[in-house]
Amino acid sequence: MYRKDSVAKEGDAGFPVESIRKRFPILHQEVNGRPLVYLDNAATSQKPLSVIQALNQYYSTDNANIHRGAHALAARATDQFERTRQMVKSFINSPSEEQVIFTKGTTEGINLVASSFGRKFIQEGDEIIISAMEHHSNIVPWQMLCEEKGAELKVIPITDEGELILETYEKLLTPKTKLVAIQHVSNALGTVHPISGIIEKAHEVGAKVLVDAAQSSSHFLVDVQALDCDFLAFSAHKLYGPTGLGILYGKRELLEVMPPYQGGGEMIKEVDFDGTTFNDIPFKFEAGTPNIADVIAFQKALEFIQELGKDRILAHENELLSYATDKLGSIKGFIPVGTASQKVSVLSFLINGMHPFDVGMMLDAMGIAVRTGHHCAQPLMKRFNIEGTVRASFAVYNTKQEIDTLYNSLSRIAKRKN
Ligand code: PLP
Repeated sequence: MYRKDSVAKEGDAGFPVESIRKRFPILHQEVNGRPLVYLDNAATSQKPLSVIQALNQYYSTDNANIHRGAHALAARATDQFERTRQMVKSFINSPSEEQVIFTKGTTEGINLVASSFGRKFIQEGDEIIISAMEHHSNIVPWQMLCEEKGAELKVIPITDEGELILETYEKLLTPKTKLVAIQHVSNALGTVHPISGIIEKAHEVGAKVLVDAAQSSSHFLVDVQALDCDFLAFSAHKLYGPTGLGILYGKRELLEVMPPYQGGGEMIKEVDFDGTTFNDIPFKFEAGTPNIADVIAFQKALEFIQELGKDRILAHENELLSYATDKLGSIKGFIPVGTASQKVSVLSFLINGMHPFDVGMMLDAMGIAVRTGHHCAQPLMKRFNIEGTVRASFAVYNTKQEIDTLYNSLSRIAKRKN
């Protein structure tokens, strides 16, 4: 039932990491007098030159508002904008491009579902299930909705290793459960959840499932039809694409009956003071002038991923994660946080006797960028009785040499207290 959605793949000795690095201008700089080691990819990934150039190109040659202009620039911009939708459709294997909605990011995608689906389909006494590991953006919108509706928010507990307790999840599911909103991969711990089984179980009681794919879509294949999820949200900026852009996928039969999220231009068919008729999907959910330039530039990020192949990207990142886990694990005073059997890209840890923020500052002084703090997962930190962690997260352009640099710096830092 909860088969492990396989993520482990063998490393690829011929992986062209050095030539990949050349495509990311930002990586080639010194920070605090040392070559930059960027290990904050779970927060946002860096952008290849092709994405940066596409933004420049759009504003230099094609800039126009889309869908309504009668002139050549408007037609070009519209074609390019809609081409991205086609590419995203293939990227997530959506049955149609109408089911691909452009948002500001994962956060807005989740809020859209909470506002629109939630307002119409969640009633007093209904139940929504999330997990104890969610990012705040997959907690707070549901809390707000439950408060407004008199519905109840239930939370799947986790083990000390950072895995969901699935037996409890099954007990939480009842005919009152209307929605399960669950992350695919934990941003704080890197745990990969057995999402297919979770979706299957929710559907058995008639609940819909929203998958927060913010941390999975950059690492492995996310196929919305294979998963059979009802909604799926992710952000372009974690996928080598621009900031301020996200994608919300939804099943057609749900999107069609959901009310609009915001009112304005583009989302209407006809407006009269007696009443307004709404546009078809996806435009019903895209009020106002969208983030045209970033949508168009996102094509280059998708092409970059396709060119390398998700399997190879995952294999490389898995090799980095297992190398880092072993190597850093040998440092005296190193305490890993989150040791699930299925993980991707993220190594969260503490150094005995030291505040994570101080560790992060010292690493920064050595040119190493990591994240410190609660990672927008305060309930998870409370579960572990900690304030926060240090988080190193890996992407396609990271190398074992960078992990060696992290190891050397961290060893020196840890020695002060251990
Ligand atoms: N969900 C998860 C698991 C995340 O890691 C993040 C961002 O870190 C988000 C949601 C929110 O994404 P965004 O800030 O791009 O909307």
